Amino acid sequence: MRLTCAGAVLLISSLTVALADDKKDDPSQIGNRDVGKGFNCYSIDKEIAMGKQLAGEVQRQAKLMDDPIVTEYVNRVGQNLARNSDAKVPFTFQVIDDPSLNAFALPGGFIFVHTGLLTAAETEAEMASAVAHEIAHVAARHMTRQACRAQVANIATLPLILLGGWGGYAVRQAASAVIPMTFLSFSRGYEAEADYLGLQYLYAAGYDPTAAIDMFEKMMSLEKRKPGSIAKVFATHPMNDDRLKKTQAEIQKILPQKAEYVVDTSEYAEVRARLLALENQRKLRSTQKDSNGPVLRRSPGSGAPATPGDDSGDDRPTIKRRDLVE
Ligand SMILES: [Zn+2]
Repeated sequence: MRLTCAGAVLLISSLTVALADDKKDDPSQIGNRDVGKGFNCYSIDKEIAMGKQLAGEVQRQAKLMDDPIVTEYVNRVGQNLARNSDAKVPFTFQVIDDPSLNAFALPGGFIFVHTGLLTAAETEAEMASAVAHEIAHVAARHMTRQACRAQVANIATLPLILLGGWGGYAVRQAASAVIPMTFLSFSRGYEAEADYLGLQYLYAAGYDPTAAIDMFEKMMSLEKRKPGSIAKVFATHPMNDDRLKKTQAEIQKILPQKAEYVVDTSEYAEVRARLLALENQRKLRSTQKDSNGPVLRRSPGSGAPATPGDDSGDDRPTIKRRDLVE
């Protein structure tokens, strides 16, 4: 009798697991599935409190963007994705003024996006795909689950280790001597899960899910062209063809095609243009600083037209204008 009961219990629990897994493949069930389940030594409240403490640390050490047009916009896009996710915690989205391509999540719903992500992503959907991935880490409670696995007593006593990306390299290098490497980046299983859930959130929020693939491609080519331009934490996300192909297959398999998707918005174009202009201004200023002397010496004698190439370029529009007048 007892054996049968145990058998029945086992059967029921494996059925529950199977049902829970099926739900995980069904974007229409988002919000009704417990994706953060699994052994966790922290309560949700404790997780949020730790995240808040760490976020304070980030705010003190990183240079936060204060342009309200940029920050309000990123927060709005983030909140919309979070509403379409399985996460049960309130979210905050903040922008760090840093040209490296990065975004990261702290436990309990604190997400930071680098300006470098916004300038690299060419459409709102591409940017949203990276943010959705970070929301998925929060929804699935990856940070605390990993900390429990690594038997870390209190994440908040290990600030910056989970993060990196904005120049806390010395801190992280020192920390990596004592903290096992497994704690510095998520396991491949967690990364794959964040890709999988993030893709569904992107889709549920109305975006074209293939933007996630475009973003992967962008990151791969950027890293090839300019190694080091992707912040270390992002680089530890295994960025390879497998990840890309897996996402492609998942789009085919679990996301029913919609008639319309959001790819880009004029608002994103405006925000991105603002950031690119800021970046250019900075580049200009630093090159002026570098070549200060020679430029000053040359300019008094340069009253003559610059280069023949420029001249011919100037002529053409003038002719056109005459033509128009006639
Ligand atoms: Zn990740």
